[in-house]
Amino acid sequence: MGFGMPEKSREFDDLVLALRQSMSQVFKFGGASIETPERARNVGKIIQSHLHESLVVVISAKGKTTNALELITRFFYDGDQRGSQELFEQLEKDHLQYARELLESEDIALEEQLKSFFTEMDWVLNEKPNKSFDYYYDQIVCMGELLSTAIMAAYLRKQGMKVQWLDIRDSIKTDDTYRDANIDWEWTSTLVKDHFQPASGSIILTQGFIGSTDENNSVTLGREGSDYTAAVLANLLDADALTIWKDVPSLLNADPKIFPNTLPIEEISVHEVIEMSYYGAQVIHPKTIKPLRNKNIPLYVRCFLDPEKKGTKIHQPNHPIQYPPLMVLKTKQILLQVTTRDFSFITEDNLSRIYELFHRCKIKINLIQNAAISFVACIDNQEEKLEKLLLALQEEYEVRRNEDLFLFTVRHYTQDVLREELKNRTVLLTQKTRSTIQMVVQIGKLTLEIGHTS
Ligand code: ASP
Ligand code: MG
Repeated sequence: MGFGMPEKSREFDDLVLALRQSMSQVFKFGGASIETPERARNVGKIIQSHLHESLVVVISAKGKTTNALELITRFFYDGDQRGSQELFEQLEKDHLQYARELLESEDIALEEQLKSFFTEMDWVLNEKPNKSFDYYYDQIVCMGELLSTAIMAAYLRKQGMKVQWLDIRDSIKTDDTYRDANIDWEWTSTLVKDHFQPASGSIILTQGFIGSTDENNSVTLGREGSDYTAAVLANLLDADALTIWKDVPSLLNADPKIFPNTLPIEEISVHEVIEMSYYGAQVIHPKTIKPLRNKNIPLYVRCFLDPEKKGTKIHQPNHPIQYPPLMVLKTKQILLQVTTRDFSFITEDNLSRIYELFHRCKIKINLIQNAAISFVACIDNQEEKLEKLLLALQEEYEVRRNEDLFLFTVRHYTQDVLREELKNRTVLLTQKTRSTIQMVVQIGKLTLEIGHTS
């Protein structure tokens, strides 16, 4: 202890301790964070260092398990029994081996639990498919999360932690839109409050991404849905924060696969994140943001490889934040120019007619601009929908198009950044407000190739 005021310090320490103890958090770990036994141990250490908090931990299927399960479903549904069995056995072996390596011994109770999941899956795989593909997809794919969390629970217990493993399918109730199920909030809220009673000193461990219908069929909430589950739990449990542990040190001001000089973002407002997602950035899915926003719960993105780092805080700040230029490059854009044949002006009647056609073909417009007799729209290249739209438009208008373009959006732009980023790029269209600039650009060959990797 330093000089002076020892009493005050102790009071302060007690206060800090009390605050820390009352902190309730939801942690979410994705598949990459537990890909190998070594990484799973690292996750164990992170959890251990937060035991003084009331923790609910949401975990995804390990590594690429969900992709493998998707493939198994495909084989099964297409009647390739051998194909699905082979892959299934491989998955089974892989999980048992992973569990033994992680626990450094056989754990009878765990292996029994894993076997019960494998048996459940085997039953499904031995059925003759007579329901929809999406239904079977969910019955099979949900296994990834059940397996990974069962293994993690056994491991954490072996490390001396008190762990309550919950099957989230008993708490998250949904409709029967398989593969993209919608949560029944009222029912789920009651069940979650009944089943989840987090307390400091012990953790509740559960699965992301899955739920069940009123008939107890398994469902999934859409790929990468674990973040959403974690946000739903944070909302219903009135958590103080949600932390999503990723393999990146923080959010960046641009995608590092495309832009060479990115900057870390320590703090960002929810509003800004929603804007960025709208322009095409894959930051945090808006579905995840909404449950947090409704209760004003901050979201931290932190790095499981470097847990000392502060990461990024996403919240609704009551102070202004200074942002670096936030950049998004959307690939595969098309510019459509729609011109009236009779030289009539593009005013309300033509505009509403054109909009209606876009709406009918379910094409979202990323950017528009109109002149006297023409209307220009930048849209994603979705071939089938586009064909339909072109046919409809051409009945009344002249239509021209440019393909292989990029939509480049910069929020909080500066002249310097524009000068730098627009080198070797041809700008076809620009739109500008005080905070945001959007440009439809054609890019030189080199950058184009990089762009395509996004
Ligand atoms: N395991 C699921 C997926 O890979 C859910 C998730 O990871 O969030 O899509
Ligand atoms: Mg995953």
